[in-house]
Amino acid sequence: MSPTARVTKADYYEVLNVDRSASDQELKSAYRKLAMQYHPDRNPDDPAAEEKFKQASEAYQVLSDPDKRAAYDRFGHAGVSNGAGSDGGGFAGMPDLGDIFGDIFGEMFNAGGSRRASRAQRGRDLQYELTLTFEEAVFGKQSEIRIRRMENCSTCQGTGAEPGKGPSVCQQCGGRGQVRFQQGFFSVARTCPVCSGAGTIVKDPCRACRGEGRQSAEHTITVTVPAGIEDRMRIRYQGEGDAGRFGGPAGDLYVVVSVEPHPFFEREGNDLHYALPISFPQATLGTELMIPTLEGEIKLKIPEGTQSGTEFRLRNKGVPYLNDHGRGDLIVQVIAQVPKKLTKQQKELMRQLAETLTVENKPSARSFFAKVRDIFN
Ligand SMILES: [Zn+2]
Ligand SMILES: [Zn+2]
Repeated sequence: MSPTARVTKADYYEVLNVDRSASDQELKSAYRKLAMQYHPDRNPDDPAAEEKFKQASEAYQVLSDPDKRAAYDRFGHAGVSNGAGSDGGGFAGMPDLGDIFGDIFGEMFNAGGSRRASRAQRGRDLQYELTLTFEEAVFGKQSEIRIRRMENCSTCQGTGAEPGKGPSVCQQCGGRGQVRFQQGFFSVARTCPVCSGAGTIVKDPCRACRGEGRQSAEHTITVTVPAGIEDRMRIRYQGEGDAGRFGGPAGDLYVVVSVEPHPFFEREGNDLHYALPISFPQATLGTELMIPTLEGEIKLKIPEGTQSGTEFRLRNKGVPYLNDHGRGDLIVQVIAQVPKKLTKQQKELMRQLAETLTVENKPSARSFFAKVRDIFN
């Protein structure tokens, strides 16, 4: 470890972008943010990101330890450089995010397996857009989808070598797939430049896959769409993406649903809405109408004197709750239509009516007209 290398070292608090009085929780969330942004698994072959990640990891390692933090606060980098160095192999290479943040974050990077066997490469995640009708999204659906993905080559079983002429161990890295060197107090692992991390060299590439170890293939998957799913939601199928390389895990398949709009049902969370035109006499005198629901027509009683804009709430006629019991409501707003064209006779009747009807043309609160009525079925 060269002392001159430490002269320009950035301040740990500045690296993490926190105050000197930051709490443990603040440090942790600042580090988590940077680690997620710059983790090498997310920034392959980006030395600048790797450097930022290392700086942040180093800063967090020191500041999250109360003794080291106290020493750093008093003496700066000089106060912790020895202590950190004497940890020996305690911080070799990239810290596994799964270890630092628990499984949720580890899973995001898939760092768990791939770090320990660094030659392995996880397969790509795939995305499939599944178009559903409005009703299919409401009630759920099972459907078969065909996807094209990379699968292990059946001729060479994924080795990339012609059968019977197995791959030979890489001389450069002794089959480990990576070479290590010391940088500061980090032991840094780099992908072996000779075998590109495979650990093996293929002299006679498999003819079926041209040495790739994988082949593009079609695959059918049964997708179960749960009732109540919403537009743009994703369903994850773990391990159904591209096959990994060199023994790495397969990626995931994400099925993104695209829900077609309905001609008149409008979805708002788990409630459904539509507007229902009625005539002025129907609103005035009251009536009974057959109205559409998701499951056929039902009778709606419109009481005498119903104001235009009144909403009728039909309990449990809406969309089922996703992965839960119960359903939302159907809300029907009746609109009393003012006739635009009347015959002479209708106009005459209207005039006679007008002479006997009086309305006070005086402002009132809006809520007076839009009362919600509950219908119990
Ligand atoms: Zn092959
Ligand atoms: Zn090698």
